[in-house]
Amino acid sequence: MKPFDITTVRNDFPALQQQVHGKPLIYLDSAATAQKPQCVVEAIDEMNAKLNANIHRAVHYLAIQCTERYEQARETVRRFINAQKTQEIVFTAGTTAAINLVAFSFGERFVRRGDEIVLTEAEHHSNIVPWQLLCERKGAVLKVVPVDDTGRLQTERLPEFFTDKTRILCVTQVSNVLGVVNPVKEIIRLAHAHHVPVLVDGAQGIVHESADVQDMDCDFYVFSGHKLYGPTGIGVLYGKEEWLEQLPPYQGGGDMIASVSFDKTTYAGLPLKFEAGTANYIGAHGLAAAINYIQKQTRAAIHAHEQQLTAYAARQLSTVKGLRTYGTATPKTSVWSFSMEGVHPSDAAAILDKLGIAVRTGRLCADTLMQRFQLQGMIRASLALYNTKEEIDALVNGLQQVQKMLSGH
Ligand code: PLP
Repeated sequence: MKPFDITTVRNDFPALQQQVHGKPLIYLDSAATAQKPQCVVEAIDEMNAKLNANIHRAVHYLAIQCTERYEQARETVRRFINAQKTQEIVFTAGTTAAINLVAFSFGERFVRRGDEIVLTEAEHHSNIVPWQLLCERKGAVLKVVPVDDTGRLQTERLPEFFTDKTRILCVTQVSNVLGVVNPVKEIIRLAHAHHVPVLVDGAQGIVHESADVQDMDCDFYVFSGHKLYGPTGIGVLYGKEEWLEQLPPYQGGGDMIASVSFDKTTYAGLPLKFEAGTANYIGAHGLAAAINYIQKQTRAAIHAHEQQLTAYAARQLSTVKGLRTYGTATPKTSVWSFSMEGVHPSDAAAILDKLGIAVRTGRLCADTLMQRFQLQGMIRASLALYNTKEEIDALVNGLQQVQKMLSGH
């Protein structure tokens, strides 16, 4: 196995070779979507150009090739997250689609008027709104576990949120705003002691942390391909077989049925019961290519590199006057959100953009955290396996220029 070499890694990503506004691109928005390595681009291109045919249907050569690749991708995902069975891996359009699936199907089967759904204050809108829709439909109630001023989830308060009406706990592994890693294994152990199943939103977590679903013992785990260096439009719902078996289908259509008649339709077994319509087989193959790429670098080497960057970013950002970071609790991944005294986030982002630096600004799909920290918006720099210390230096220089231009510091 070759050692992690940042120059080689960067050369694997065609998007990083370009200039924007005449400056080399410094891409610090990977928490929104990550760039894709050449091997992922090629995997998708090859299927689009040559191997395209609908899966699970025809018996001709192309159809069989595509079906095999789709099912191989399922096995690649299974191994990556250490699920027990491929039946437990459902392909979806992404994290949002996966959470909506669980909120609907779990809600139909298990949630009644007056029941309670527990969430945390650090959730992305995707892990709030589907549950609110369920609560409206069923007359259920949301309960929210708070974070403290450092962005740490107040897990010690969890027991007070569990009652005999609690049906599910939904928690993000890593907040897309705070970057703080939640102790999901411990949270799940506690929830299970109260007979409460747990859905873990792994959209950010799977990129930076271990996602061993058996070790975590989560009941559901969801993530998106595009944040994991894979294609858009593909994601995964992992569910323990014993849960998925009990849930009704979310959508009806081709591929999810065993037989259809006007009198009675029966459904396919797992996982196809939850994969109605033509699946994104090209996306699934691209996601498998991304996972293979990550494993080639090794998760441990990526983690070590990102942790070095995170520590360096903490030191360097603290030198910028008037800058306040949110999510200082540890452990923390390479996601940095901050505000700057006297500076509107959009103005800062516009100036950084002219310097070739891509950051995210605004409410970061987390209105509830903005309310928690009493802000209209934040600036977020999120780092990935291909970022460097020099890029952090460039960000800090850029922020100092922003300060001079906009707040006179
Ligand atoms: N959950 C978290 C923690 C996220 O960061 C995101 C995206 O930013 C999502 C859910 C939604 O992911 P997607 O838009 O890929 O469905």
